[in-house]
Amino acid sequence: ADIAMYQAKTAGRNALCFFDPTLQKEHNSRLRQAKDINGAIGRGELHLLFQPQIDAEDRVVSAEALLRWRQPERGTVSAAELIPQAIEAGLIATVGRWVMEEACNRLAAWSREPDLAELTLAVNVSLQQVQQTDFVPEVLSILKASGADPTRLRLELPERLFTDDIDTIAVKLQVLRWHGVGLALDDFGTGQGSLRRLQQLPLDQIKIDACFVRGLADDTNDATVARAIIAMGQALGLTVVAEGVERADQRQRLLDLGCQRFQGYLFSRPVPQGALRSRLKTLNRPKREAPQVAD
Ligand code: C2E
Ligand code: MG
Ligand code: MG
Ligand code: MG
Repeated sequence: ADIAMYQAKTAGRNALCFFDPTLQKEHNSRLRQAKDINGAIGRGELHLLFQPQIDAEDRVVSAEALLRWRQPERGTVSAAELIPQAIEAGLIATVGRWVMEEACNRLAAWSREPDLAELTLAVNVSLQQVQQTDFVPEVLSILKASGADPTRLRLELPERLFTDDIDTIAVKLQVLRWHGVGLALDDFGTGQGSLRRLQQLPLDQIKIDACFVRGLADDTNDATVARAIIAMGQALGLTVVAEGVERADQRQRLLDLGCQRFQGYLFSRPVPQGALRSRLKTLNRPKREAPQVAD
């Protein structure tokens, strides 16, 4: 409600719409839903899906953890809906901790499975999480408690990081880097990131936002942006990952532009861990049998 009031005050003439009773009601019910996140954790309704990341040789090298909330009455709520609600309700710290614990526990278990042992795992974190004073010690203690290898964990950070106190954030992230944790800049090209600031963060990966991938085949502007991001990433020594790759022609175009990593429905939707295991077998299967040696 505080946010609605604040927006109403600052929105001027548009303020009227915030007092539209239906909108207000919708807002309240969303907030009520968000406030039930604690209950959801207790009832075991939160879970992680995993989306594979593929290299240029079509091998699965990594997976991204994506949060879902399975509600008995409503079905599954996606992260795109859930995360902003959790932030608004002041519960992102709780959700973030649950995600980090779950992800690190999975990662530790993967190290004992031949099929999954080589994978790295990417976890999304929002600006509000990074801003918490105990963010870094919390990640490190979760890593330690789980027994997961820090060098197999990667955090995906939003470009919004750039709009706030970048120096403080850079110092925090550097500590995680020292422990071997990887850092990716998510949705690159959509926010306020400047190239100068890109160098201030100890990143090892950038992800080209899906919006540039979408128009890749027929929109020359998108292709130009994608080419520039890939070239810049390479110049800075970063791994460039394209997200939202849905078609083979998009993958091919990206490959031609020098992109080495891909993620998207073309390869797999986000899936539960069991399905990830079988997806890995299909995706990693050699495309052609090795030539028979004639005797
Ligand atoms: P993101 O990190 O950029 O994740 C990519 C989103 O695009 C995911 O949506 C994924 O399901 C979707 N996606 C992947 N491939 C394709 C494709 O080929 N086509 C299309 N149309 N979509 C694709 P999702 O899971 O709803 O997540 C939305 C956003 O919510 C994420 O964007 C991320 O910023 C955030 N998020 C997800 N899980 C978490 C979490 O555990 N913690 C935090 N703080 N944020 C999270
Ligand atoms: Mg992400
Ligand atoms: Mg992304
Ligand atoms: Mg995205």
